[in-house]
Amino acid sequence: MRPYSSLRDIRTDIANGQVTCKQLVEHYLHNIKEKAELNAFLEVFEEEALAQATIVDQKLANGTAGKLAGMVIGVKDVIAYKGHALQASSQILNGFKSLYTATALERLIAEDAIIIGRQNCDEFAMGASNENSSFGPVKNADDPTRVPGGSSGGSAVSVQADMCLAALGSDTGGSVRQPASFCGVVGLKPTYSRISRYGLIAYASSFDQIGLFTKSVEDAALLLEIMAGPDEYDSTASHQPVPSYSSLLKTDKKYKIGYIRDCFESEGLDTEVKDSILGVKDMLQADGHQVEAVEFPYLDYMVPTYYILTTAEASSNLGRYDGVKYGYRSPNISDLTSLYKQTRSEGFGKEVQRRIMLGTFVLSADYYDAYYTKAQKVRRLIKEKTDELLQKFDFLILPTAPTTAFKIGENTANPLAMYLADIFTVQASLAGVPAISIPVSRDTNGLSIGLQLMTRSFDEAALLAFSNYILDKIPVEA
Ligand code: GLN
Repeated sequence: MRPYSSLRDIRTDIANGQVTCKQLVEHYLHNIKEKAELNAFLEVFEEEALAQATIVDQKLANGTAGKLAGMVIGVKDVIAYKGHALQASSQILNGFKSLYTATALERLIAEDAIIIGRQNCDEFAMGASNENSSFGPVKNADDPTRVPGGSSGGSAVSVQADMCLAALGSDTGGSVRQPASFCGVVGLKPTYSRISRYGLIAYASSFDQIGLFTKSVEDAALLLEIMAGPDEYDSTASHQPVPSYSSLLKTDKKYKIGYIRDCFESEGLDTEVKDSILGVKDMLQADGHQVEAVEFPYLDYMVPTYYILTTAEASSNLGRYDGVKYGYRSPNISDLTSLYKQTRSEGFGKEVQRRIMLGTFVLSADYYDAYYTKAQKVRRLIKEKTDELLQKFDFLILPTAPTTAFKIGENTANPLAMYLADIFTVQASLAGVPAISIPVSRDTNGLSIGLQLMTRSFDEAALLAFSNYILDKIPVEA
């Protein structure tokens, strides 16, 4: 079977009798088995997916199928699916099963998406390389000695290596966009609050968003329009009307585009990445768009601000994993205090422990104002400056990540080097604006390079349309 890159192609072939949902699921199951060494899936719902495929095939025959009939999806192990294990790739949730389904996932299933399995990620979505999973690293399908990015590495690789058509991830500071960039797929982080967080395991609640991986912008648009919108179970989910993104993908407008000069001058930026993104900028300029360099004086503050605030929120959110109510409980306990201590020391991996300690520190009475309050103020400045730029420009463009996929083990000894991998993705997270990574070229090692675009809050329609336009100009495998 040829690898499909959009639901539209699948639906055409289904209508022509060339393929069935059952055959599609079999195809993906075959690839998952064949590429098991990439370690992308923690669990495959083989029987269930096949049974569901038969049902969807019947619905298609009866004309009662939903909008996502033919769409086979994988789900990052931080999104609840009733009756299925949910672990955030951590030992502390060992044995836990979801009691309900996340709203976003529920809406996809209601439109007949088929869920094929649960995908590996960094523990509690903390990481940029997928090396922090308690189930071992995920490998990049383009070069298995390299990381897929993180934290949604399993989801990115599954789409990259044709183990499913699309995948749900979560993006707190880049966890969808950066792995999308490393794996050569489309990765979308919507506006904060665009998609309900009900059923998403919390990492840093004022940043977390469910995001998605697809091979085409059209599929991203379709999935977003189905998942977005208010939800009685998440009072923070926005009530802004949800446009029909997938029918708004054509654009012939000439846009105003800003590129942040400071990003292109930053020290850690790989020259091939830089040249390739500047190449896209030149192409857009030649195409009649108005492209201008802009100053953004806060680049050096972005990563520290992000890590102070997210670790603070994480230290609070992860307080619930105490061995009392669910998940792992240490057998080596003598009293209540040792129950907490042993369970948390044995159940959480090193990076999660580091972040809980850092977060507890920045929230402690003596240091609260110096770190937490200060970081909140800096976040406000970053947000105001970003919003101001987005009043002037329709889009800001920049690389998604400073490098292409790095080697497994290359950054593990140095957490700071790893945190700097997020330098270009945390801005949209701090500001809450939508951002997308699209694959625009490859470096001399054949590794994918992603272009990141940001736009105004709730303007995903323009973001998707413009991304589609850019990808039409640049063939994916350029
Ligand atoms: N790499 C970032 C971090 O480790 C982003 C993670 C995410 O978006 N979940 O926090």
